[in-house]
Amino acid sequence: MISVLKGMKDRYSDDVKKYDLIVDTAKSVFEKYGFERIITPILEETELFRRGVGDETDVVSKEMYEFVDKGNRNVTMRPEGTAGVVRAYLEAGFHKSSPIVKWFYHGPMYRYEAPQKGRFREFHQMGIEMFGVRSAYLDAEIIRMGCEFLEKLGITGLVVEINSLGNIESRKKYIDDLKAFMEKRLDKLSDDSKRRYTTNPLRALDSKDKGDQEQFINAPKLYDYLDEESKNYFENTKRYLELMNINYVVNDKLVRGLDYYSDTVFEIKSNKLGSQATVLAGGRYDRLLEILGNAKVPGIGFAAGMERIAMLMDENLIAKKENKIYVIYFDETKEYFVKIVEELRKNGIKVNFDYNPKSFGAQMKKANRENADYVLILGEDEQKENVITMKKFSTGEQEKYSFEQVLKHFERKSLEK
Ligand code: ATP
Ligand code: MG
Repeated sequence: MISVLKGMKDRYSDDVKKYDLIVDTAKSVFEKYGFERIITPILEETELFRRGVGDETDVVSKEMYEFVDKGNRNVTMRPEGTAGVVRAYLEAGFHKSSPIVKWFYHGPMYRYEAPQKGRFREFHQMGIEMFGVRSAYLDAEIIRMGCEFLEKLGITGLVVEINSLGNIESRKKYIDDLKAFMEKRLDKLSDDSKRRYTTNPLRALDSKDKGDQEQFINAPKLYDYLDEESKNYFENTKRYLELMNINYVVNDKLVRGLDYYSDTVFEIKSNKLGSQATVLAGGRYDRLLEILGNAKVPGIGFAAGMERIAMLMDENLIAKKENKIYVIYFDETKEYFVKIVEELRKNGIKVNFDYNPKSFGAQMKKANRENADYVLILGEDEQKENVITMKKFSTGEQEKYSFEQVLKHFERKSLEK
């Protein structure tokens, strides 16, 4: 037998119900803030991610599903959503005509990494990108929208962490000093951080290694290197968050580790996910469109891992509220059954039944096994009298009704939901 690939998963039943609920919730929240959905291809030119995510990142250097297609193009299954969305924006020329655009997306992402709890090779992200505006109020609003989205899904115990990376110039000076700091402790740092010392020192700051974290306790602080404008921008962003009643903590080691990020970066973490704690992550990227298309357009976005959201979702949210109806009939009453089922479905009522009905007892057993709330019995007497016997499972109450009465009953029930 051929199995699903390592780190990938078939999704059905509750997984899909949760996926759909995440999508519906995101849509209702994001649309309120003016976002519209965009769909971009899963496959892109590899170069897009090399430039858009960065050669020196783990994602690009180690995790990409990259191959040469039949036309000899170097292509990659997208590891994240931002690069493709930015490409779409630039390709359509929005930066020249109407630069302010708000988009959201969701779909599968691919990263060749070691699978573990909350970490897969095929996973799904729900994300947003907004182009054309630089404003501290907007940054707070985007974080607020991320919180609202997760809260609507019944997720609690979340912490918003924010930091400011300032601009590229102030960061250069900081990175020099950070490297000098790291150099003195290089032998005590993990292999990953040793490597990052040369490739991406900033990223070493948010190493998950406990030993590294201890070494970095007294590392120079990025905030001290920010220029006045960036400091003000950060203070304003925090002030707006307070006005919006969003609790946050400043994490001065939170870095997204990419050159194109500027000023605001943030993560929403859960205390219920162990080491894979980040549910939603994002930031402002005022240089990304310059790198990818020579356009001076600011941007901000976030992406949330849908599997991590699903792990945190309240099961009750997806519990079915509708009544489960099981229809019992017999070979002798098959035509009556067909007629009744047609009418019920025409009226939007969902029913279940046995395609090859045996005895009454056998059908009752099945109805019970499927957790039916009601059974509708269509026996020979019912057929003769043109009625339906309705039995409520929870109470055992049972009575004959006309079709119209049964219909009214379930219509009222569906209104009560
Ligand atoms: P991490 O440090 O956990 O590897 P990251 O910085 O690589 O995270 P991002 O690229 O910022 O993650 O992706 C945003 C979100 O997507 C993450 O916060 C997480 O919820 C989710 N995510 C990232 N990689 C995976 C994965 N392999 N499996 C499941 N979810 C993932
Ligand atoms: Mg990662």
